[in-house]
Amino acid sequence: MKKIAVLTSGGNAPGMNAAIRAVTRAALAEGIDVYGVRQGYRGLVEDDIEPLSSSAVGGICHTGGTVLGSARCPEFSELEIRKRALENLSRKGIEALIVIGGNGSQTGSHALHEMGFPVVGIASTIDNDLAGPDITIGVDSALNVALEAIDRLKTTGASHRFAFLVEVMGRNCGYLALMSGLAGGAEAILLPEKDMELEDLVIKLKEAALNKKTTALVVVAEGAKNNASACMEYFRAHGERLGYQLRATVLGHIQRGAAPSAFDRVLAARCGGKAIQLLLEGQTGSLVGLMKGEIGAVPLNEIAGKTKGVDLQLLHLAEQLNCPTVKPEGDFVLVPKF
Ligand code: ADP
Repeated sequence: MKKIAVLTSGGNAPGMNAAIRAVTRAALAEGIDVYGVRQGYRGLVEDDIEPLSSSAVGGICHTGGTVLGSARCPEFSELEIRKRALENLSRKGIEALIVIGGNGSQTGSHALHEMGFPVVGIASTIDNDLAGPDITIGVDSALNVALEAIDRLKTTGASHRFAFLVEVMGRNCGYLALMSGLAGGAEAILLPEKDMELEDLVIKLKEAALNKKTTALVVVAEGAKNNASACMEYFRAHGERLGYQLRATVLGHIQRGAAPSAFDRVLAARCGGKAIQLLLEGQTGSLVGLMKGEIGAVPLNEIAGKTKGVDLQLLHLAEQLNCPTVKPEGDFVLVPKF
């Protein structure tokens, strides 16, 4: 193995840069030349591929985003487009590809591998929806951003007797919402995997008010049936019954741009090193990530196109931890006090 390429694909995640650096330097240390592909699969198709030196990946492991860039490239699901990508790689003598990305990206890497090209994936997405890994590069940093925002909102909420509804990212996976709700002490958590009737959410907020909580927190996953705007629409009609003034905050892309946490940097370094090791051992067609607490690999064909569910026992735990002592009786009306 003399030449490989690396790309980042899908939504950017904190730690992608640390993974690019780790892949590049671990490969160079083994005498392998490295090429960087710009803008994910789009750069592969459009031949936007340049050599990466050791110094080119210097000073990036503490930064968020991806220096290689990332772009959606829906046409990559077409065979003819992927053939063009492989022609671009073989013209440069590139023998293998490392794909740093999430669920869709690893479906793309599996498709390339099925065409006979050696690929190793590195699991990186803030959504943590990839089947296989326990936790992917970027999740820990994104979770900490969500939690910091939640902590600040709770401070303001307690001062003004506001309840806050915080919408967090995660596409169709509720992992970020569940974990930030559990860590942030949410009164209610709404997930794509387990939604809550809005009438029940009213009861949760009433309970918090009855128990003299100065603020209440509802964490909503962006993929939940009732996202922040759906909840707010409902509450505009029922707000007088809550006991709090309700405010909604959609965290959105703020969660993506963080500097990677120590956990994500170490995970990225270890995954990058492992990916090069697998290439040298000829174990391609696999996805590298943290599996059962160890850096391991799983065949791409076992995970491509599959998503991971969340542990609903943790939702139950979050509910237990907010178990109110006083329960509302009847259809009482609470008037906000300021
Ligand atoms: P993520 O990897 O973060 O889940 P996306 O789902 O947007 O992000 O996927 C990133 C890219 O992966 C897409 O823009 C596309 O180029 C590629 N991709 C996604 N699904 C497929 C597929 N079924 N076949 C080939 N390529 C795919």
